[in-house]
Amino acid sequence: MTGTPPRLEVRNLVRRFDGRTVVDDVSLTIEAGQVTCLLGPSGCGKSTTLRMIAGVDMQDQGTIHVDGKLICDTVFRIPPERRSIGLMFQDFALFPHLSVAENIAFGLKGAATARVDALLERVSLSGFGPKYPHELSGGEQQRVALARALAPSPRILLMDEPFSGLDERLRDGIRDDTLALLKEEGTAVLLVTHEPHEAMRMADEIALMRRGKIVQQGAPYNIYNAPVDREAAAFFSDIN
Ligand code: ADP
Ligand code: MG
Repeated sequence: MTGTPPRLEVRNLVRRFDGRTVVDDVSLTIEAGQVTCLLGPSGCGKSTTLRMIAGVDMQDQGTIHVDGKLICDTVFRIPPERRSIGLMFQDFALFPHLSVAENIAFGLKGAATARVDALLERVSLSGFGPKYPHELSGGEQQRVALARALAPSPRILLMDEPFSGLDERLRDGIRDDTLALLKEEGTAVLLVTHEPHEAMRMADEIALMRRGKIVQQGAPYNIYNAPVDREAAAFFSDIN
């Protein structure tokens, strides 16, 4: 009777720090193969939301389900490494003492060479396997970080401002290349950004966040054309 459950379902998440509610009753759903952007100004609670989904922080209230399976509530918690949830951060966080190939193979079990080589080729870094992160440009490091995050084929990839460390002039090209690879892999993605332009460019769906709450959720076109209130309209007005 029931259809396929969503890839990710976050229900009524609350997180408080020192009595202050930073994430305030956040609910959102992501379908397989979909890119959802959690969009909102700095400090509104985006990274805290992502950290709870990843399992590196724990909510005060609410539940998280992946493919219909409970992975976390306030008393039960599957550890981060068993959630099949990948993470990619702004600073890429490559392991400096590991080669490019070893970085990409890090989350893989057993014979990983074929997957590593295929990903290296896919991100146009064939031959870069033996190099070390410090030998790479920012854009190259971003591609290695993306390949590393995708290597174990996570059910969900969480990306926290993954382009903000990159040269502004290169960003749109890198966004498009990244999106193409995410779509090829069919990964469900929750991408955090404070830039409306980035969300408009990449998202299938935008969840607009403000002061801990999701105030509007929908297709980018709809949110841009029919913002929920003046504050949302103003947020989109300086789109570049
Ligand atoms: P965003 O990613 O949207 O910029 P964050 O989720 O990082 O916002 O932070 C939301 C709010 O929670 C901020 O005011 C931040 O200072 C606060 N905060 C985040 N983590 C902690 C923590 N571990 N302890 C106390 N306050 C925190
Ligand atoms: Mg943040």
